[in-house]
Amino acid sequence: MIYLDNAATTKVNPEVLSEMLPYFTEHYGNPSALYSFAGETAKAVAEARERVAKVIGANAEEIYFTGGGSESDNWALKATAEAYGKKGKHIITSKIEHHAILHTAEWLEKQGYEVTYVDVDENGTIRLDELEAAIRPDTILISVMAANNEIGTIQPLKEIGAIARKHGVLFHTDAVQAFAHIPLNVDEMNIDMLSASGHKINGPKGIGIMYIRKGVQIRSFIHGGAQERQRRAGTHNVPGIVGIGKAAEISARNMEKNNEQERKLRDHLIQRVLEEIPYSRLNGDPQKRLPNNANFCFRFIEGESMLILLDQAGICGSSGSACTSGSLDPSHVLLAIGLPHEIAHGSLRLTLSEETTLEEIDYTVDTLKKIIERLRSMSPLYEDFMKKENSNV
Ligand SMILES: *Cc1c(COP(=O)(O)O)cnc(C)c1O
Repeated sequence: MIYLDNAATTKVNPEVLSEMLPYFTEHYGNPSALYSFAGETAKAVAEARERVAKVIGANAEEIYFTGGGSESDNWALKATAEAYGKKGKHIITSKIEHHAILHTAEWLEKQGYEVTYVDVDENGTIRLDELEAAIRPDTILISVMAANNEIGTIQPLKEIGAIARKHGVLFHTDAVQAFAHIPLNVDEMNIDMLSASGHKINGPKGIGIMYIRKGVQIRSFIHGGAQERQRRAGTHNVPGIVGIGKAAEISARNMEKNNEQERKLRDHLIQRVLEEIPYSRLNGDPQKRLPNNANFCFRFIEGESMLILLDQAGICGSSGSACTSGSLDPSHVLLAIGLPHEIAHGSLRLTLSEETTLEEIDYTVDTLKKIIERLRSMSPLYEDFMKKENSNV
């Protein structure tokens, strides 16, 4: 099997797993308990908090553990809306956010909040002038993702943070794809809140983090016990917390090395596809993109049929995002960068890991070429198009 869907989820690093295991069976004490047996787990939770904080230049007491990226995104929007609702009811986000943000924003609209969805350019970069122009006296929050999960475009966080700060508006970033993958610093980028997730960084699923800058008046989101300084109730998922801490530490330590290696393979992949497959295009910014992300459109091709044939050849890829696949709607991200429906339908996302090899990439391109030739040979649209092309010559 060739796994090229690392933006959807990643394999747990064996080192991460072995650090987690004792917290299921040996050190199973509830970290909130007072006896010394629980001290071991409390210590592990504190260490994980330190490790996560270090990756983004935060203080440990500004890190909160959650049930994943989606929960952190929901928390950031809903609880800010609640806490700052008296100041204003206007929120700004972008058109290419993950559904954990977009669907939460839509829900808030039903609760009487107003949301502005700022446009992106043809590479998927947010339009900073539009963003700044959207700010009103009643704007309470700007939420823009750090890097896009479909097309990999990295957003100018520092510039967005500066705009938010200048206007006294809070800035949240969904950094699920960026955390421990590319350098992030909450102070340099003026980030007030940041979401990240364990399973996108070779850690376990069902564990996430929220960074909340000291002084931000966010409300608790899960009500119950006093865990996480009364802001997120629920007995700590200690193995998960240990796992995300270790995964963050390893990913941050290997960031430069992994990025260089993945970027090389990714560029080789992009170059071969664009050169060898006619009527193909790269989506997302050619330079400012996640080192492991390639996203293509192939004209006259249905994404679904391509994925099924790739699967038969042992290759895991994705069309749109994992959340939208299964529906026939084209990706909202591809529509936002200006692609027409029929082209957005033929998209393919391939996301590499540090274990991806050159042989795997070459095999994938060779297979993809054959699949696309075969699918096009069966497409009446392609046949018509080629007839016209040939008569024009
Ligand atoms: C995966 C992802 C999420 C959701 O994270 P979960 O931990 O799976 O809930 C949110 N935002 C982005 C950008 C993602 O890629």
